[in-house]
Formats: sequence, structure tokens, C-alpha cells
Amino acid sequence: MHSRIRNFCIIAHIDHGKSTLADRFLEITGVLAPEAGAQQFLDSMDIERERGITIKSHPVTLNYEYRDETYTLNLLDTPGHVDFTYEVSRSLAACEGALLLVDASQGIEAQTLSNFYMAFEHDLVIIPIVNKIDMPQADVEGTIDQIVKDLGFSREEIVLASAKDGRGVREVLDRVVEHVPPPKDDSGPLRCLIFDSHFDTYRGVVVHVRVFSGKIEPDDRVRLMSSGMEYRVEETGLFKPQMSVNKGLSAGEVGYVISGIKEIRQTRVGDTITHVSGGAKEPLAGYREVKPMVYSSIYPTSADDFEELTRSMEKLRLNDSSLVYEPDSSTALGFGFRCGFLGLLHLEVVQERLEREFGLSLVITAPSTKIRVAWINGTSGIINNPVNFPDTGKFEHAEEPFVRATIVTPEEYIGNVMQLAISRHGIQVSMSYIGVKRVEVEYDMPLSEVIYDFHDRLKSVSRGYASLDYEYIDYRSADLVRLDILVNGKQVDALSQIVRRERAYERAREIVRKLKAEIPRHLFKVAVQAAIGGQIIARETIGAVGKNVTAKCYGGDITRKRKLIERQKEGKKRMKRVGNVDIPQQAFMAVLKRE
Ligand code: GDP
Ligand code: MG
Repeated sequence: MHSRIRNFCIIAHIDHGKSTLADRFLEITGVLAPEAGAQQFLDSMDIERERGITIKSHPVTLNYEYRDETYTLNLLDTPGHVDFTYEVSRSLAACEGALLLVDASQGIEAQTLSNFYMAFEHDLVIIPIVNKIDMPQADVEGTIDQIVKDLGFSREEIVLASAKDGRGVREVLDRVVEHVPPPKDDSGPLRCLIFDSHFDTYRGVVVHVRVFSGKIEPDDRVRLMSSGMEYRVEETGLFKPQMSVNKGLSAGEVGYVISGIKEIRQTRVGDTITHVSGGAKEPLAGYREVKPMVYSSIYPTSADDFEELTRSMEKLRLNDSSLVYEPDSSTALGFGFRCGFLGLLHLEVVQERLEREFGLSLVITAPSTKIRVAWINGTSGIINNPVNFPDTGKFEHAEEPFVRATIVTPEEYIGNVMQLAISRHGIQVSMSYIGVKRVEVEYDMPLSEVIYDFHDRLKSVSRGYASLDYEYIDYRSADLVRLDILVNGKQVDALSQIVRRERAYERAREIVRKLKAEIPRHLFKVAVQAAIGGQIIARETIGAVGKNVTAKCYGGDITRKRKLIERQKEGKKRMKRVGNVDIPQQAFMAVLKRE
């Protein structure tokens, strides 16, 4: 039985065709009718579909005929973004094989490399595929060359395919059967790896598991090894791709477990499930708690919406175990939440879902990273809100999180890329050629320099060709100060930022200039100032408008006047009033953009 199971996943740089290939697999195995219109079936969230990214992994069990035998292929879709690297790593751990997809019109990219190394570390059998061979601009030979020279495969191992027109797709599945080893049939004590979970309104938390040893069955008493929490198994089953009941899952199988878990936070990706009695002594390797790295505050534009925001956050958290938040209040913005995210994409997804699914209008403050502060009395603490960063002299030193960034770029843009990385305090770690015309460079740099617009800037200095991947490495000390912003003499706490002392003046000037451009004219002059420890270091003044805009419509056109007033009101809704000044929502984000 086990000899006919194959557990595998697809890894690729974003847009190289992972979801499209998965759709072809679903068609070939009869799960999905061809041309069913359900584009990219495995990406179920709207935002994922629109942006072409996969955030949640949705496993699916396929039946595939190979030489008159039916094989069970478990395809695990992995999230394709750096914010979710740990989730990718756990889905890889649940497999024996990986399809490494490379777009023939793009070649090897940053995430191709990082995913390849990750699969390699997990000892997976890797099947390289050159995809999109149908495209007129495909460079099939060049891409094969890169895979052979830089990743060490032989030409014969590479499959040429088009996920669009279906060429090579069967061959890919044949190779999965031939080369990916079947899972080991281990009858030892139960060990299931949790690689994902989701919240079902009717059933509660559904845990996605790969069983490594033993068997899990309904009515078993089980324990989550990291938290020690105990549950009774209510149901086990397979993803076909709809959940379908299967009495028990045994070693090697991939499926789901429902066991009366109420909150998704109680299940952690990477955790091991075992039996309460006669269970495993050691959990499966590789578990770690995922901690948010990027923080931002969320406020309702209108204070009346705070309760609605509270309810929506609670609902959102049901399906997102990595979202953390706590109540926050700002003198400028009122009541809201301080939220922790895995990265910037995670933040954007949460923001979009709150606005779209719950119809809320929000003010989001500029994202910042955690800072570790060593106090004078020898203790240390983590600060996740710039407002709380102490004045110079009140602490010993501060440390900020660093990442290692991997950038792949065509040779002609390497100068621009290096210049950008250096301007963001990047320290070059390595540089090497991929094929003949592409360069891979690694930089260690502060996470705070990467999170906001680094990716956009990288794309613009390389005409869209450079790609980025990064992983968190450690905290490193830095000379940091808190920069406060005052609007008409009133400090706007939500605009405070932590910056490097050596860049403080430059940043201060940049920020007040940005704010001047974002804040509309009022009936009076508005001063925008930046200060460090109470001392003003930069200032801009927004001149006054004398008259109401309706003054433009002298003459008697009353409907036109009304329209203008309406429009003014509309605009006001997206503003936050601080003292007597209206600050538009985008001003809170704009301060972080660099020139
Ligand atoms: P993912 O980000 O890896 O999941 O990539 P998608 O499957 O979403 O594909 C990204 C884009 O490439 C989509 O517009 C697909 O239609 C297109 N695409 C995927 N595979 C092929 C292929 O073999 N040929 C062509 N011409 N386009 C493809
Ligand atoms: Mg996709």
C-alpha cells in the first residue's frame, strides 16, 4: 500500500507557474474538469488570486494511473513568499520529493535558489522542470544551462513543460512516481507533523497533518507536544480536495484531523501530535515558534468603528495563527490595536481583508521592527512601538533585527543594486555568477531597511529584473534615536519613528517635506516639525488657503456647489483630525517612503 504513495510539493519563484501546473495535475487526475473555469484552484483566497501569490497551503490527494497501477499522489502547495518561509519549510518537511519549477523566460531567481537549498536541506528528491516552454521569449537552452551549472543537475533529469498547454505535464507525474521514494511505513509510536490548519465555521479547527509513524484514529486521545494540550480525535480524513472522511490515517499519509480544538492559535505549524498513552518521547525535528518581526498600529478612521474593528480582528485571527495584536491608544488617533506581522506582505493582506471583507476604513501607521534595548540597570527589553523608545541617556545600547538578503540580478544592473544595498546599510557577504549574465549577491542588512520599499526600489533600479529573498539572522547593535513629529506644535505620536542617529537630520527633512505634500492646506498656516528629545531639527510650513473651494463657483450653479461640498466631505472621511489639523490616511505611510 505504502509503496504506492508519493508525497511531494512544488517550489518556485513567484509567477513561475506553480498554481497553473497544479491545476493541470487536478485535470489529468480527474479532480477538475478541463477548462472548468476555476482558474488556479488551489489559491482560494481572493487576495491570493488577484496578486498571484499563495499564502495558505492546500494539500490535495490525487489518484494517478501509472503502468496499470493506481498511485496516491499527495500534492502539498507551499506558500510562495518570504514572510512565510517557516511555513514553506514545514510543508517541505512533510514530503519526500519536490518539483523545482523554473520559468524559461526568466531563469533562476532569488526564491528559486532559497527554495532549492531548503529542499536540499530536507533531503528531498528534487525534480527540476523548465516551465513555459511555449512562450515566444522562452530561453529553454539557457535555462537548462543554469540548472545544470548552478544547481548541479544533469540534463536528463530536467523535464521540459508548459503548464499552460499541458506539454510535459504527464511526464512530470511519471517522474514523481519513478523517482520520489514512497514514505517509510513506520509502526512506532504516533507522530504527526502539523504543517497547516484552517478554521471551519461548523467544525472548528481543522489541522493538516502528515503522519510519520503510527496511526491516528477517531476517539484516540492525543497531545500536541509543544503545548501539552490534550484532545479527543473526532474525525480524520483526506483532501480530495474537499475534506472527505477516512477512518484513520497511518504513517506516510497526508490528511486532516478534527479534534475539538477551538482556536487556531492552539495549533502551531511544525508541532507534533502524539498519543496521550504510549506516545512518542521525542517530537519531530524542526519545530520553532514563529514570532512577528514587523509591527504597525491599526486605527479606525472614525472612532465609532472601534467595536466593529475589534470584532473583525477577532474573526480574522480565527484563520490566521500568526497574527498577534494588543489594544493600543494614541493621543492623535484614539483607540486601536498594535499588531505584529510576519512581514510586510502579511500586513498588507490583513489590511486588505479588514477593509474588503469587513468594510472598514482604517489608518495604518508606518511599519517598524522590534528593537531590543539594554537598560542601564543591566536588564533588557523589547520595544515594538517607536513611541516607547527611550531618550538618549536613558539606556545602555539598542539592537535591531538583521536579515540576510539574497538578490539575483542581470549583470548590467549589479552596480545599481550594490548602490541601493549600501545606501540601506547593507554589508556584502558574497557575490557569484549564475550562468554567464546573472549575478547572485548576498547582503546582511537591517530588517527595518528591507521592510518598507526596498523591494520596490530594487525592481525600479533593475527595470524589474532583480529578485529578492531574505531570512532573519540576528540582532545587531545600532545607534538609534526616536524622531518625533509635531503638527502645529502638537506631537503626533503615531508618526514617531526610530532612525539611525547619523541619518536623523536627513530623514527629518525628508519626512517634513513628505508631510507638507500630503497634508492639505487649511484656513490657517500649519507648521510641520521634526524633533529629537524635544529639540526641533527640521521644519516646513504649509501655507493657508483663504477661501472655501466653493468660492470658485460664483454664479448660481447650486448643484455644482453641492457636488464640491460632497467631495470635500468624502475627502474628510479618510482624514484624521489632530488638534485642529486634518491629516490624510496616506500621510501615515508616506513618511517611510524614500527618495
Ligand atoms: P505561481 O505564482 O508560481 O503560482 O504562478 P502561476 O501559476 O500563478 O502563473 C503565473 C503566470 O504565468 C500566470 O499568468 C499563468 O497563466 C502563467 N503561466 C504559468 N505557466 C505557464 C506556461 O507554461 N506557459 C505560459 N505561457 N504561461 C504560463
Ligand atoms: Mg500561485
